[in-house]
Amino acid sequence: MIIRHVSVKNILTKSKIPGFDFVINPYIGCPHNCIYCYAEYMRKFTGHNEPWGTFLDVKIAQTPIKPAVLFHADVLLCSATDPYNPYEEKYQRTRQILQHLIYAQAKVSILTKSALVTRDLDLLKQLYQCEVGFSFSSVDEDVRQMVEPGTSTITTRLEALATIHQAGLSTAVMAAPLLPGISDWKAIIEATSPYTSTYRFDSLNLRPGFQKKFISLIALRYPQLLPLYSEIYLKGNNSYLKTLKREIQAYALAQNLQVEIFF
Ligand code: SF4
Repeated sequence: MIIRHVSVKNILTKSKIPGFDFVINPYIGCPHNCIYCYAEYMRKFTGHNEPWGTFLDVKIAQTPIKPAVLFHADVLLCSATDPYNPYEEKYQRTRQILQHLIYAQAKVSILTKSALVTRDLDLLKQLYQCEVGFSFSSVDEDVRQMVEPGTSTITTRLEALATIHQAGLSTAVMAAPLLPGISDWKAIIEATSPYTSTYRFDSLNLRPGFQKKFISLIALRYPQLLPLYSEIYLKGNNSYLKTLKREIQAYALAQNLQVEIFF
């Protein structure tokens, strides 16, 4: 892993994501190295030629966070990295940022694939408002190893979700990206429903930059799914996703779950 400390003007970014005023990405790059990672586009904007998942810039902000700016503001940690990548254990940038967010009384949403978030329970409990969301594209450990090799195992991620829930904090599950023919979304709900009732779903968005990489993986591991991927991602046929959405909505209604579906 190539690690650098980089100076940035401001750690805060005004958010274009609905529901959030600001986004904070304490790092550039992500050692979790998910094969479908949409944040890989960051390489282009940050002068990185190295493959995604092989570098990590630890951001050092020139301007301190101004508490008044963040007072009761909705802040997302993170949109283009994981706040609890394994190097957070050493560099503690997310932990330092949380201390500022407590002081500012910000409303914080965390999105992670890492059990390391439980290290910061002491701080999370002090936030004015906090939701800890865990992402799962699958709860099958073989799938995780294939598509999210650097993340916490499914077992430890589920244990972390349980720990956060048992500590009395709000939790959510981001079932995303749903990999057509691979992700078992009902299994994700069944494994996590004791610890949350808030679910968000998103589909796999195969941007041209990594379409080839992902389709090669499908050809190798799931050749029987190639026609389905071709229909969805090459021909733009969205009937599979429409059906999937209807199934999730019907299930959520029957199970009395709060769901948001972003596709
Ligand atoms: S955890 Fe998120 S940011 Fe990190 S590689 Fe995976 S999808 Fe990308």
